[in-house]
Amino acid sequence: MRTICYDRILFIALRSKNVMVNTMSNAENEKEVVIVGAGPAGLTCSIYLARSGLVPVVFTGDVPGGQLIKTDVIENFPGFHEVSGNDLMMKMMSQAESLGAKFIYERVDSISRDDNHFRLKLNSGTEVDSRTVLIATGATHKKIGCPGEEEFTNKGVSWCATCDGPLLKENKRVAVVGGGNTALMEALFLSKFASKVFLIHRRSALRADKIMQDRLFRNDKIEVIWNSEIVGILGDNFLKSILLMNSIDKSESRLDVSGLFIAIGTVPVSSFVQNLVDTDEDGYIKAANTLTSCNGMFAAGDVVSGSLKQAVFAAGNGALAAKQIDEYLWMRLS
Ligand code: NDP
Repeated sequence: MRTICYDRILFIALRSKNVMVNTMSNAENEKEVVIVGAGPAGLTCSIYLARSGLVPVVFTGDVPGGQLIKTDVIENFPGFHEVSGNDLMMKMMSQAESLGAKFIYERVDSISRDDNHFRLKLNSGTEVDSRTVLIATGATHKKIGCPGEEEFTNKGVSWCATCDGPLLKENKRVAVVGGGNTALMEALFLSKFASKVFLIHRRSALRADKIMQDRLFRNDKIEVIWNSEIVGILGDNFLKSILLMNSIDKSESRLDVSGLFIAIGTVPVSSFVQNLVDTDEDGYIKAANTLTSCNGMFAAGDVVSGSLKQAVFAAGNGALAAKQIDEYLWMRLS
């Protein structure tokens, strides 16, 4: 089912490459609104702007949908008892597209600004001008930073259980690191395939919601290893074991596993606009509602400092961005 959804994304991506060539070659003409990022914030903004008569151009990066396309099941998006992240994002995209939003499957590498407009440089080298820009690039996975992490990435080390879990042969032992909702979701998902799942957490209390903790503790395939940090990842061609250090007595131990899933939070995707907007110490963009410190540049969703990192909040924030962008353009015209 997952593969089919990716195929659908790729199909739309290829189709839209053609749209892009037309859109770009037609005109060096300035766009009114460009949205960078196609997660819930960017897509909701594009839906609202399209409905208000504008033609938002959405730069999706390599694959649209943001972090949610890797989420197996979402249970707290209003209107859906249960929905896969992939399906939810596909629905938002098709809604936006049917209303007139344009999708361009490219990454924005840098943005500069002069008095009147923004110039966006794409990874293909193409440049696009726009009067307003919404940054809705979200956040990406945090790394542990221990020896072996780079070497064994995609060789047993993964940031996505939904993508890579089903590839594990049955009856393998796997580990998940982290104590938040993502880590618990990953552990519960992996328990369908693995013989044993170790949840490694650096403290003695989990950060995840109680409902998730209750499910975790009820699952007899999952064992929590408390107060432990991963200090090394070992193997030959493929991951074989991880080195743990107990954070209380500093003792080290080795745990043999065939897969390690890292779910320790996120870092914002904002480095390409650090020269234009104020950010907090972690790089998240400071915004009053969605207004950034740079006139004409807006930010919404997980990339914003202090935002609730939830899809429903990102969607609401995207709607607010649309209203503020609309008002900004209106003020410039009047
Ligand atoms: P969180 O920030 O909630 O949790 C990160 C976890 O990783 C924490 O337990 C943290 O430990 C641990 N951690 C951080 N850095 C390290 C490190 N260097 N080494 C070891 N452990 C580390 O991130 P999530 O990705 O879990 O969630 C992000 C947001 O998305 C949250 O608001 C969450 O509620 C939400 N979410 C919601 C879902 C839903 O279904 N509604 C699903 C998934 C996420 P410590 O606790 O000690 O800080």
